[in-house]
Amino acid sequence: MAAVGPLARVARLSSSICRSRTLDLSRCPQRRGVASCVDPAHGLTEEQKEFQKVAFDFAANEMAPHMAEWDQKEIFPVETMRRAAQLGFGGIYVQPDVGGSGLSRLDTSVIFEALSTGCVSTTAYISIHNMCAWMIDTFGNKEQREKFCPDLCSMAKFASYCLTEPGSGSDAASLLTSAQQKGDHYILNGSKAFISGGGDTDVYVVMCRTGGKGPKGISCLVVEKGTPGLSFGKKEKKVGWNSQPTRAVIFEDCAVPVSNLLGEEGQGFSIAMKGLNGGRINIASCSLGAAHACVQLAKDHLLVRKQFGETLSNNQFLQFKLAEMATKLVASRLLVREAATALQENQPCAVSLCSMAKLFVTDECFNICNQALQMHGGYGYLKDYAVQQFVRDIRVHQILEGTNEVMRMIISRNLLTES
Ligand SMILES: Cc1cc2nc3c(=O)[nH]c(=O)nc-3n(C[C@H](O)[C@H](O)[C@H](O)COP(=O)(O)OP(=O)(O)OC[C@H]3O[C@@H](n4cnc5c(N)ncnc54)[C@H](O)[C@@H]3O)c2cc1C
Repeated sequence: MAAVGPLARVARLSSSICRSRTLDLSRCPQRRGVASCVDPAHGLTEEQKEFQKVAFDFAANEMAPHMAEWDQKEIFPVETMRRAAQLGFGGIYVQPDVGGSGLSRLDTSVIFEALSTGCVSTTAYISIHNMCAWMIDTFGNKEQREKFCPDLCSMAKFASYCLTEPGSGSDAASLLTSAQQKGDHYILNGSKAFISGGGDTDVYVVMCRTGGKGPKGISCLVVEKGTPGLSFGKKEKKVGWNSQPTRAVIFEDCAVPVSNLLGEEGQGFSIAMKGLNGGRINIASCSLGAAHACVQLAKDHLLVRKQFGETLSNNQFLQFKLAEMATKLVASRLLVREAATALQENQPCAVSLCSMAKLFVTDECFNICNQALQMHGGYGYLKDYAVQQFVRDIRVHQILEGTNEVMRMIISRNLLTES
């Protein structure tokens, strides 16, 4: 893989070591040059290891020191994300001719895993933004790509993905937001629920109904902030993902130019699902980063905390638990990377593998983080300790981008209908 644009530059960046009060990423094995069974650099090319290091350094220097504050004060760290975009992380799998880094799905997973060790919530938003930029890059025409992608890749502008509605979550194809063509505009009416970045972002990739019932009646429109008739609900109070706002997005006779239609009328549901295949790998990768950080935090805690006259690391029950966490972390990573490669190569099993990765990895990584919290005892429940934030931030990965029950539906449906 040839070094491209901004990511070729990032490989040359040097970094200092961050010492967060509670999460010292300098102790991650791959940063100390120590071969470890949980080393996320294992199996990567030299170039992938270089931009992985850049992402780890960015996580350690620019994100980890602030992740607790962003969480507690609910700060959307716009300038930090723009610095991430300078490294090529605003359009990682967008084509270079419109400002993207043109990297693969596997490369993308490696980057999101590393960034998440510094802040899951911020990285998860960056992953949604990347998904939207990819949708416009892939399904947009020349004018749309040139109009929207450069600003999205630089994160001069931010994007949101708008599928869910108050009455249609898991059954997304039943969405009701209507778009009726009048002259050279579509008139949108309806509302979207739970939109990540909603209200603070500039570009809304909206699935809406231009035709009859079901998935074939759905189209995809790009709606720009400032369009009359576009408004937002209150900022939701959430368990985690607090460094990014979540709001309803409301359309009341909102006139959107026909030229903002992505692809053809009726293609919107397919575009939405194609975006989500990559989105599911990205979200699973964010869970991996959290689990990787939590294994490190748990190990460090076991090595220093003494009870019954010796360190917890001497207790065989806890040793076995740590071994299980490390094993599940590595198994999860292998599955994510397998799915990312399948998607990149457009393999027929890609949709199922992406769903398997999302299901298995978000469940297992949540369990790893939760076990790490348990190993911290009461301290794990204190906000001074990063482990609780990882637990809170990745809990939602089992719910969004298709719940893990929906992942089971996709996997079994594909298995039962294959010839
Ligand atoms: C913080 C946050 C951010 C989000 N960001 C976005 C965003 O940016 N854009 C966007 O479009 N959406 C977003 N969502 C919405 C998210 O994708 C939905 O919440 C999710 O798809 C589930 O839909 P629902 O909440 O309506 O739950 P429901 O569909 O009502 O499901 C409720 C429960 O029933 C289960 N269930 C439903 N049907 C079945 C079935 N047939 N079999 C078995 N179990 C079933 C579900 O798995 C779930 O456990 C976000 C949600 C959250 C919480």
